Amino acid sequence: MARWGMVIDLDKCTACQACVVACQAENNIPNANPESAAKGRNIHWLEMIPFIEEEYPHTRMRLLPRPCMHCENPPCIEVCPVGATQISSEGIVGQINARCIGCRYCTTACPYTVKSFNWFKPAWPKGMERYLNPDVTVRYNGVVEKCTFCHHRLQKARDKARF
Ligand code: SF4
Ligand code: SF4
Repeated sequence: MARWGMVIDLDKCTACQACVVACQAENNIPNANPESAAKGRNIHWLEMIPFIEEEYPHTRMRLLPRPCMHCENPPCIEVCPVGATQISSEGIVGQINARCIGCRYCTTACPYTVKSFNWFKPAWPKGMERYLNPDVTVRYNGVVEKCTFCHHRLQKARDKARF
């Protein structure tokens, strides 16, 4: 099966997290409020994972950008009781918000812990709603969300190529 892929050059990555912020803005991911952040309930579709290289005392901290891996045989799909997470013919693992019943089986099954549950109704600081991306649906409380491989951008490019 032909499938989309994304390469991140780890030798060039400085862990500045500009990509994390861009992903939040592109995909209408709400900022965590202090209460949800304290409980580890903030949502990121792309996150920096810290790991340590070498032996003490010459250890070196590295940070690894981690989006959804869009696995070939995704365990998150296997466990979903309602088919709310599916793989496309191009290898993109998507979420169907309207079908999700919020059971969170998939958040447990994902080995990369990339899925997030919406514990709260999403909210943005006053005025920020104007910056929401009209091409991406705002999710609601009670459903799980994750990286969609910016599927909406692929669709836009396809539409442009056709006309
Ligand atoms: S959510 Fe997890 S298990 Fe599912 S495709 Fe992404 S990385 Fe794989
Ligand atoms: S939380 Fe939603 S997407 Fe995940 S397994 Fe349950 S119904 Fe499926």
